[in-house]
Amino acid sequence: MVVRVNRDRCIGSGMCAHTAPGSLALGADGVAHPLRGSAPDGGPAGERLTARLAEAVDCCPVEALALHSARDGRRVAPSD
Ligand code: SF4
Repeated sequence: MVVRVNRDRCIGSGMCAHTAPGSLALGADGVAHPLRGSAPDGGPAGERLTARLAEAVDCCPVEALALHSARDGRRVAPSD
């Protein structure tokens, strides 16, 4: 999975970093940054990461986050 941050939208609330602390953090510029390029799409570890990232996407108050499959680029969250 790949998480993308829309830097123009992010208001630096920090909620995503709190929800998925291994994957997202607030930078010195006050905007969220992914901590790693991608997480595995499959397996238990990948599923745990994906669940946390999907929760982070859902909790963002300004819809600045999107989760995509690293395999085919398909958007996983938010859903249409
Ligand atoms: S939850 Fe949204 S607005 Fe808040 S820091 Fe994360 S990306 Fe930015």
